[in-house]
Amino acid sequence: MTLTADPTIGIARNPAVDSTLAQAQRVVTGDRPTGPLHLGHYIGTLANRVRLQNQGIGVCIVIADYQVITDRDAAGPLRDRVRNLVAEYLAAGIDPDRSIIFPHSLVPALNQLMLPFLSLVSEAELHRNPTVKAESLASRRSMSALLLTYPVHQAADILALRGTLVPVGQDQLPHIELTRLLARRFNDRYGSVFAEPRALLTRAPAVLGTDGARMSKTRGNTIPLGATEDETVAKIRAARTDSLRHITFDAHARPQVANLLLVIAELTGVEPAAVADEISGGGAALLKQRAAEVINESLRGVRRRRLELLADPTYLDGVLLDGVLQARTVADSTLQRVRQAMGMDYLCVQGDPA
Ligand code: ATP
Ligand code: MG
Repeated sequence: MTLTADPTIGIARNPAVDSTLAQAQRVVTGDRPTGPLHLGHYIGTLANRVRLQNQGIGVCIVIADYQVITDRDAAGPLRDRVRNLVAEYLAAGIDPDRSIIFPHSLVPALNQLMLPFLSLVSEAELHRNPTVKAESLASRRSMSALLLTYPVHQAADILALRGTLVPVGQDQLPHIELTRLLARRFNDRYGSVFAEPRALLTRAPAVLGTDGARMSKTRGNTIPLGATEDETVAKIRAARTDSLRHITFDAHARPQVANLLLVIAELTGVEPAAVADEISGGGAALLKQRAAEVINESLRGVRRRRLELLADPTYLDGVLLDGVLQARTVADSTLQRVRQAMGMDYLCVQGDPA
């Protein structure tokens, strides 16, 4: 395997995976059904999921429905949002014959794993998580215990499904660190059950939205995957850049310009500095025009397939139900191993998985 990973932090970028070793890997990742997917998802994680699937690695996508209420009062219109997510995954290239997609709430073993995992982490450690702190601040409400512990749910999802590779955006890195810590602590205390998964980042792990902050559904600064071409042009035209005339690639000094260059680079495979050279004196107007063209060209097929898939909700629900059955099989057997390792398998109910 030619993963270029830093073993201390468990991050790899754009890995190429040897086909014989692909069998030993499993991708587990997910999204909250809080709204439609956006360009940040597509570039930051979805493209990696599809690429890894196409290299022969099993991909599990968890639709984290309970996590919607970490920072809001109600779960919202879940049926439509979840169907929309499935349509967008499939339109982007996730193949339901090779990958599984399921809603978290339908796989109860995931929640059972929370209890032993919660015993392995201190309250102070949970409070130190920078992403949880930022999400709590953005929600403008006091932090719920569900928000404080959500990285532990996420760890339970990844470890229950025996994930080894987790394609995510930058905001998720503290959670993957915690997942690795929990796996290590569990193994040290009860014997070796879990592998330590690694986060996979793309070159654009935090795509910025039209207001210059990280693109996220909650901030309302997104370019939705399903936007029309005209909407995309208008949103990109309104995106923040800076007042310097010449376009150059400098991620620190010129983050918004660098963001558009990275978006173009990720979608075309050209280096961002080369894209900058090409646009150069054309300034922000040409950069935006080029970005909108590239986004629209890259997403044209995805958008067409998305609409076709949305017209068949029965098929989309079938994909989810299939995914639930497969996820339950894996998660139940992991829970069984956990209970054995902890010495909690002292009584067996007839009909339960042995
Ligand atoms: P919400 O605002 O409801 O939290 P979100 O836009 O942050 O929504 P999530 O469902 O929380 O999206 O994130 C799903 C996955 O997509 C995570 O792996 C996350 O890191 C990744 N992701 C989300 N936004 C971006 C972004 N702007 N750039 C790169 N990756 C992203
Ligand atoms: Mg989020």
